[in-house]
Amino acid sequence: MERWPLGVFASIDAGLGVRLEIARELQVPTIQLHAPQPSSRTPEKARQFTERLNQLGIRLTVVFAGFEGESYADIPTCRRTVGLVPPEQRHQRIAELKAIADFAKLLGVDAVGLHIGFVPHDPADPQHRAAVAAAQEVCDYLAAQGQRLHLETGQETADTLLAFLAAVGRDNLFINFDPANMILYGSGDPIEALRKVGRFVRSVHCKDAKWAARPGEEWGAEVPLGEGDVGMERFLQTLAEIDYDGPLTIEREIPQEPDRQKAEVGRGIRVLNEIKAKLSKPT
Ligand code: MG
Repeated sequence: MERWPLGVFASIDAGLGVRLEIARELQVPTIQLHAPQPSSRTPEKARQFTERLNQLGIRLTVVFAGFEGESYADIPTCRRTVGLVPPEQRHQRIAELKAIADFAKLLGVDAVGLHIGFVPHDPADPQHRAAVAAAQEVCDYLAAQGQRLHLETGQETADTLLAFLAAVGRDNLFINFDPANMILYGSGDPIEALRKVGRFVRSVHCKDAKWAARPGEEWGAEVPLGEGDVGMERFLQTLAEIDYDGPLTIEREIPQEPDRQKAEVGRGIRVLNEIKAKLSKPT
């Protein structure tokens, strides 16, 4: 298979991705899918969706979970509401994540992505232990159906993420590396982080961002691919260094502006194709 097939983050009825029609118009060979609403996660819908993807010649690589009640309004809200960390929602979200994994299995997809949330850093913190136990339970469920869990990066530094992976200790636990999130959340230089966690990276988001004036306290700004502080050429070079040759999935989180989203994802595809061509030339 070709190195680095392009992809887009797509949505059917939930989430911030582009619509499937746009993926087709942009002629990308792969997508990641934001898990649809529970009412759409039936065997019949899975069959129809698989048929549609086959017609379009698009391969679905990761199904991403999202939950009711999550908010990315600002960093403190995100801390309080996202993923498997909030204790009041944990039990029900683990159950939903398993249901999403079942839906992914119906679609023939062997990877489920997730923002696990802000895991407390102190291993003695009961909430840290609970997040580890939650991840173990989910990993074991996925392993039984031949699936992997890909943790989205951003909310923690590379070192904290490595410590968390070690604490969970499951061999189907990997990383979806999003370089822009490292900047948006102020969690460290994305390229340095990618080198550190590289051996666990099984999928990536191509997204760009500019650092906040006070990183970690306020959001950085998401910007079109190539216009931010990630350095896309250096990002792809580093992916080559860590031997990552999987899909490059463009994520542009402005679903409220579909025309602009489509135009910018289209430009992102051109940016990535130019860098790919440049890096494949013998030197
Ligand atoms: Mg992302």
